Amino acid sequence: MAMAVLTDARKRDLRRELEALVGRGAVLSDPDELLVYESDGLTLFRALADFVVFPTSAEHVSAIVKLANREDLPFVARGAGTGLSGGCLPAEGGIVISLMRMNRVLEVDYDNQVAVVEPGLVNLHLSWAVGPAGYYYAPDPSSQQACTIGGNIANNSGGPHTLKYGVTVNHVLGLEVVMPDGEIVWLGGKTRESQGYDLPGIFVGSEGTFGIATKIVVRILRKPQAVKTVLAVFDRVEQASAAVSEVIARGLVPAAVEMIDRLTIQAVEDAFGCGYPRDAAAAVLVELDGLAEGMSAQTERIVQACRDSGAREVRAARDEAERQLLWKGRKSAFGAYGRISPAYMVMDGVIPRTKLPYVLARVNEIVASHGLRVGNVFHAGDGNLHPNILYDPRVSGEEERVVQAGAEIMRLCAEVGGSISGEHGIGLEKADFMAFIFSPADLEFMQGLKRAFNPTGRCNPGKVFPTRKSCGEAGPSAYRPHPIEEKGLAQRF
Ligand SMILES: Cc1cc2nc3c(=O)[nH]c(=O)nc-3n(C[C@H](O)[C@H](O)[C@H](O)COP(=O)(O)OP(=O)(O)OC[C@H]3O[C@@H](n4cnc5c(N)ncnc54)[C@H](O)[C@@H]3O)c2cc1C
Repeated sequence: MAMAVLTDARKRDLRRELEALVGRGAVLSDPDELLVYESDGLTLFRALADFVVFPTSAEHVSAIVKLANREDLPFVARGAGTGLSGGCLPAEGGIVISLMRMNRVLEVDYDNQVAVVEPGLVNLHLSWAVGPAGYYYAPDPSSQQACTIGGNIANNSGGPHTLKYGVTVNHVLGLEVVMPDGEIVWLGGKTRESQGYDLPGIFVGSEGTFGIATKIVVRILRKPQAVKTVLAVFDRVEQASAAVSEVIARGLVPAAVEMIDRLTIQAVEDAFGCGYPRDAAAAVLVELDGLAEGMSAQTERIVQACRDSGAREVRAARDEAERQLLWKGRKSAFGAYGRISPAYMVMDGVIPRTKLPYVLARVNEIVASHGLRVGNVFHAGDGNLHPNILYDPRVSGEEERVVQAGAEIMRLCAEVGGSISGEHGIGLEKADFMAFIFSPADLEFMQGLKRAFNPTGRCNPGKVFPTRKSCGEAGPSAYRPHPIEEKGLAQRF
């Protein structure tokens, strides 16, 4: 089934109809306004929608989805657009449903440690809302100042504290969802134990291909009594990698273990002056949280594990201000690359922790072999790598070389027994890499699940799965060449 292509006259009619549904000022269709929504944080891939619509209720979302179905138009949910895998990239044409005006905390039940929020709520704003009562929301992507809980749900996002607290799915109890046919349903609820299939578990991580979340029930946690953050500085990346394994091998359960390499340290120091030594090969940030009692002894064990692994300097943040500064360096690292490169592509792969030294060395070799530079800042405790390949889109051929290097890094992660995404999702970027880790039978099984939720394929087409004619997938996601394939850098299987 081919997607509908709208004439200008039909677009004008539909714009009026959409405005009647959601109100004037809640629909964009001018090309210059649509440009803002042509990509997410992965700017290598761009496409223009016909409309961007800003609903303020589930009923609005449902009506927009029903209109899209009637007109045979693809639609895609969009949060803050901070995704890094092209997940909310529009199909060519169709409707972008921006959830940014659905951003309220609807209910907080402190006794049961549960909050009900709208999907466009910025992640950090939930912790701000419940913070004065002594609570917070644990999943903390480094983009938490901007990304939305709806986007986190779709990508099953993680963050520095995933090591101890798990990813988004571990914090979601229930969801109100507008299904791809426009029906409004509840998956799960407000209690921790639900009966029947774990539908929130299936929906979380489905990257906007199973429907659009319009309300989300999340767990909120008591703030820990004490937090301690340790910075360990190394002259060799191998020592830093060994320290990551050593800390965990000694039976400690840090809340976070993050690593940042020399190129990144220098970018961060130039931008923010956070106190990382500029000449270090790598720095490791270890955070403990929990009861105040015993915290000093545990901190001492972390310090010792880092020293035994060859750290040239280990220090615990003396106060909250110093702790925040260390975290600022880590969490602002992606932004700091902007000072040293006009563009960069953030990779997201997972490897067994013990393979860190080998994989980091290979990543450097791969990127160098393409004449490019890479900075690494990542959730080392989880084995979740983020090689950031720096490039200049104005230099002919650099984008292709970045894409090629990225594909080789993903294959490397798969070869060492890891995976092709830790937290950023598959989106458009890695759809063709799914074959690195899944067999055709695995993929067909997963596509069957997708068809159960999204039989026409109009809901966020072209994402997650390698699209091919023979998949039996109906709808607008039927075969169209992936940009990587068009560049001759990847093959369909
Ligand atoms: C500087 C930086 C740091 C980052 N650090 C991290 C990190 O530490 N951990 C991490 O996991 N990610 C990280 N990311 C990636 C990104 O922030 C996350 O994937 C985030 O969850 C995306 O949220 P968003 O609101 O921007 O979603 P978008 O980019 O707008 O959309 C992402 C996906 O969610 C879908 N979607 C959005 N809203 C809904 C909804 N209501 N219902 C159904 N589907 C929906 C979209 O269709 C799309 O597939 C980082 C990004 C940047 C730019």
